[in-house]
Amino acid sequence: MKSESITRPARGEDKAPTPVWQPPRLGKGGPSPQVEQALSDVRSKIYPRSVSGIYAHWRIIMVFVTQAVFYGLPWLQWNGRQAVLFDLAARKFYIFGMVLWPQDVIYLAVLLVLSALSLFLFTAMAGRLFCGYACPQTVYTEIFMWVERKIEGDRIKRIRLDEAPWSWRKLRIKATKHIVWIFIAWWTGSTFIGYFAPIRELGMGLITFTLGPWQWFWMVFYSFATWGNAGFMREAVCKYMCPYARFQSVMVDDDTFVVTYDHVRGEPRGGRSRKIDHKEAGMGDCVDCSLCVQVCPTGIDIRDGLQYMCIGCGACVDACDQVMDKMGYDQGLIRYTSGRAITQRLTQQQARRRLLRPRVLIYWAILLAIAVAFVVSLSTRSTLRMDIIRDRGTLGREVPGGIIENVYRLQFINTAESDLVLELSAVGMPGLSVEDTGTGSSIVRLEAASNTLIPVVVKAPAAQAPPGLHNIALSGAGHYPQGGEIHVLEKTSFFVPR
Ligand code: SF4
Ligand code: SF4
Repeated sequence: MKSESITRPARGEDKAPTPVWQPPRLGKGGPSPQVEQALSDVRSKIYPRSVSGIYAHWRIIMVFVTQAVFYGLPWLQWNGRQAVLFDLAARKFYIFGMVLWPQDVIYLAVLLVLSALSLFLFTAMAGRLFCGYACPQTVYTEIFMWVERKIEGDRIKRIRLDEAPWSWRKLRIKATKHIVWIFIAWWTGSTFIGYFAPIRELGMGLITFTLGPWQWFWMVFYSFATWGNAGFMREAVCKYMCPYARFQSVMVDDDTFVVTYDHVRGEPRGGRSRKIDHKEAGMGDCVDCSLCVQVCPTGIDIRDGLQYMCIGCGACVDACDQVMDKMGYDQGLIRYTSGRAITQRLTQQQARRRLLRPRVLIYWAILLAIAVAFVVSLSTRSTLRMDIIRDRGTLGREVPGGIIENVYRLQFINTAESDLVLELSAVGMPGLSVEDTGTGSSIVRLEAASNTLIPVVVKAPAAQAPPGLHNIALSGAGHYPQGGEIHVLEKTSFFVPR
């Protein structure tokens, strides 16, 4: 397949024009050649060869780190409950010591902004590092391919097995692979659901077959998605479905570190004997062994330049370094470096210095400013919030004894994980008092991590209150059992009828 080059010059040229992507056209006679090509690419299975090396080790480390976090986090306990739980039914998000309510959605929005900015920043500096090492699609594909290699063998064995007619042996090998894949997919799907429903109850429900229909549905759905994406779709997700691949070209520039083939050093390519002096023979360092293509999980040839299908995994770097070692040439014919470093023959140190360019510094400044504001706002967030809802049915009334009453509903959100006893009071007019209409007391009890609605009546002596609307404020004061005083104050109005 001829790959689409997006930023890097083609070999032998310093300034190749950037090809403009043309949308495929559907004409009368069926799909256009581009569509035919794309469909053919989707259909043709890629058999990446296994490779070892520094970047392969990093990919394995990242698989362990990301999966230890993903599978382990829902089992972690905090204050006697699940440390991280997005309890959609109760509309509460527990994140370690924090309890977030729908009113705190701003924090989640800021988190998304921070994630997007981080992606822009790291892409501007080092291309698609996230795709190559931490994206769930890459990580699960890596796990599934590892299982496939262990059961079916390396590249050639897998190709032969797929080409062989069906037999008991083939059926046994394929069935074993799918059983292991389905187990991993099921575990992954169940763990994912465990972020939204208590995972211990989920585990018990799974063992005793007492899960609800929605829990079964989502568990099967995510397991199936994992099995399909990592087992079958693989690189097609990166190539045809991932939007990030499409807009990365606007985030990288000539100083971004990406996996790059050094065409100046490598060309003209060609096979040769190890004994000949290839420079004297007018040849470049590339021996045209195609190993870099064989190990590529997306099946592209990095020698055609940077392509949107390249996930920056570095497998071709490891493969090429091994070839260079065997040939006795310097490593790094394919390496993480910038386009400018290749065309202007900069050293890695010079290229690294250019990473901190104005655009990257601006990204850093914005990211740090938002991150600091986020942390400060979160750490100084009050654990108690009070909202006053006026009873619109009865604005104000005079009751026997010369007392004016106004009725309100107080909504308390206690985000702390301990009960709270509050004493209610009102200020703004002489002689004001507040009572819970249920208990007749000014003392109210709020449960830990609760959202409580309490109807209250505010009273004032009629003699002290001229008719009309008066500005007052209701307040609640108390302290948590483990220490720490809390006080909330909200403004409202008090109506005195004529
Ligand atoms: S692995 Fe290196 S030497 Fe072999 S074809 Fe690729 S770039 Fe050339
Ligand atoms: S070209 Fe190299 S870095 Fe890019 S996806 Fe293929 S193997 Fe990974």
